[in-house]
Amino acid sequence: MENIKNFTREERKEALKALGVPAFREKQIFGWISKGAKSWLDCKNLGAGLIQKLSESFSWENVDVDLVQESTDGTKKFLLSMPDGNKVEAVFMKYSYGNSLCISTQVGCAMGCRFCASTIGGRIRNLKAWEMLGEYIACRDYAGEPINHIVLMGMGEPFDNYEEVCRFLDMIHDEEGINLSLRNITLSTCGLVPKIKQFGDEYPQVNLAISLHASSQEEREKLMPVANAYSMDELMSACREHAKKTGRRVTFEFTLIEGRNDTEETAIALSKLLKGMLCHVNLIPLNPVTETGMTGTSRKSAENFRQILESKGIPATVRRSMGRDIDAACGQLRKKNM
Ligand code: SAH
Repeated sequence: MENIKNFTREERKEALKALGVPAFREKQIFGWISKGAKSWLDCKNLGAGLIQKLSESFSWENVDVDLVQESTDGTKKFLLSMPDGNKVEAVFMKYSYGNSLCISTQVGCAMGCRFCASTIGGRIRNLKAWEMLGEYIACRDYAGEPINHIVLMGMGEPFDNYEEVCRFLDMIHDEEGINLSLRNITLSTCGLVPKIKQFGDEYPQVNLAISLHASSQEEREKLMPVANAYSMDELMSACREHAKKTGRRVTFEFTLIEGRNDTEETAIALSKLLKGMLCHVNLIPLNPVTETGMTGTSRKSAENFRQILESKGIPATVRRSMGRDIDAACGQLRKKNM
């Protein structure tokens, strides 16, 4: 049985029409989904007869909260269960501009970045669009607060699950549903170049973040296997093109690893690489993952790195490492609970 949530509005209208259910019922059902109803029985205004009929044709499955770790800074890290028992993580964060949720796009990840916990067991499966929407609804309702920003920066590589991620964007952006502005969404990728181009054409309003983590092809290959498939040159020209095409700045995520990519030379090389591009660099001291043997750079080195970039005209911020006390780095909570 197909889950009623796994449709875009238009698709659901069609599916209901095929059952002989009038179109206005779709709006009611979508309303219940967006409000976080847990079952067909919650959809009070449909009436018992219709509920019976619909529940014989469509399932109503949910994403459930399994475990929550709360940090003193307001960050909440969620372990969420999918109906098949697979688990992913999401992180709720409070910022001055509002609440933000970091959501996962896959169970596990195939990209193999050397410093990342999400990829250790490989990719188990792609998440469906409705499961990503379900992450949002489950966390919003647990937190009891509105969430107006989303970052696709949890477990998984969004561009390795392109179709479902786009369907999710359509669902959450829908004005009859949650109606979240695409401009309040950031997608982070390790750099699948052809998809960067496609996405820039199809969703120019969504913010793009690139996980760069190195300033040379050689060093990037050592940290991120994806660099073997798409070179630094190809990646950089795709990013320049993206910034021009969309008129929006590209964010570069740069995880600082002690003694690896936190040197002055790296900062200078990085500034050359990004010169003249509409961009911003987010510097994040590595969250240590036991299995990787790598350590994060000190606050002082991170600040020094930032100053070098700024002096060369590249805007950069050292990100607060939120929720460090609760294993907020990607994939750590899930791994401990497998
Ligand atoms: N696959 C996507 C999105 C998920 S990873 C991507 O690569 O962008 C989200 C971000 O967290 C990426 O920038 C990733 O490189 C970074 N990251 C992964 N493990 C980390 C760790 N242990 N410490 C700090 N950042 C990490």
